[in-house]
Amino acid sequence: MKKLIALSDCNNFFVSCERVFRPDLENKPVMVLSSNDGCVISRSNEVKDLGIGMGVPFYKVQNIVEKNKVNVFSTNFALYGNISNRIMHILNEYTPNLEVYSIDESFLDLSGMDIEKIEKYTREIVKRIKHEVGVPVSIGISQTKTLAKIASKYAKKNLNCLGSKYIDSSASDEYLKLIEVKDIWGVGWALEKSLNKEGIFNALELKGSDIGIIRKKYGVSLQKTVLELNGQSCINISNVFQPKKNIIRSRSFGQKISKIIDLQNALSTFISQGAADLRKHHIQTNTLSVFIRTDKHRESDQQYRNFFTVTLPHASNDTILLTKTAVEALNNIFKPNLLYKKAGIMFSNIVPESDTQFVLGQDLTKTEKNKPLMKVLDHLNMKYGEFALHIASEGEKPKWTSRSRLKSPNYLSSWDELPIVK
Ligand SMILES: [Mg+2]
Repeated sequence: MKKLIALSDCNNFFVSCERVFRPDLENKPVMVLSSNDGCVISRSNEVKDLGIGMGVPFYKVQNIVEKNKVNVFSTNFALYGNISNRIMHILNEYTPNLEVYSIDESFLDLSGMDIEKIEKYTREIVKRIKHEVGVPVSIGISQTKTLAKIASKYAKKNLNCLGSKYIDSSASDEYLKLIEVKDIWGVGWALEKSLNKEGIFNALELKGSDIGIIRKKYGVSLQKTVLELNGQSCINISNVFQPKKNIIRSRSFGQKISKIIDLQNALSTFISQGAADLRKHHIQTNTLSVFIRTDKHRESDQQYRNFFTVTLPHASNDTILLTKTAVEALNNIFKPNLLYKKAGIMFSNIVPESDTQFVLGQDLTKTEKNKPLMKVLDHLNMKYGEFALHIASEGEKPKWTSRSRLKSPNYLSSWDELPIVK
């Protein structure tokens, strides 16, 4: 049986999400900015045609934006996450073996299906997602993940594919020729220069390279890429939940802050979000780190950065305990009279809840006491929005929040922001 791996990739995902609720923006230039409205992170095809690059700072293209009446949005991750979930649920109906690779990409194992009909079949999936969710996707199918990625890129660029392209590994050369090495999955710009020096500029040339030399010079992961380009599947679809190694929450502030209370507000919010994430995945953290820093781009400001790590007496996902610990950690590193630009928290040494070992002398009445409260907290915040019930130290009107002046409403996760039919 020939292996069949499909990659489903949403087209211009964040822009497409914004258009779901603003159909008037179809065929008009639309782009989405990173947090603090800093850089361009998603572009409609019309914006790409204007020559606006990926990742460029917004202020550098502001003229082009105004002249061409580009519709600009701040990121709205709540909305994008929600739409992404809906798409993944639909994809999951077509195979139990689904790997959610990123917010807009998934691998599907379709082995056993009739190769002759695979494009027709996946076109139906593309149609269904467009119809039910409103987002355009491109699906590439081949014998390996690396080739499926290349096929989906081809499907996206060539409208006559109607959203889906099958590339058989034995007949892939004409497509591989078109792909620059830096655009191959798992290669990237970091390796581009040295591969170019070896005379390898495109995917076909990498496919034909000497596997022994590649392994020796670049290691086993590039060797796998070469094998995958040759049709030999080396990277399996993994649908098992991998416990997270670390959870990090951090943000650049919308305005610089100097008071400890404002930093406390920010850190408390990061802890709340991170702890909710721990509970959602039934995991706990053993270690908590807190970090703060001034604006490294403002050389005229006095510079300072520091972090503080606390090993907890026992693993926990209790917002109240973790917040108290973070506030104490902050007290250890905070310096007054500085302008802080960024702060964050990190949970590490994460273990499943079921693995938790009780420590001798641990006061169970204290550590277990908050569990029902955390359940209520998660339930209410799910129902009424993330900030409905929160720890007092998060503050009421926090100063630190990012600038996102151009954010669209949370159409799917907030009753107050539902679209209104006129
Ligand atoms: Mg995409």
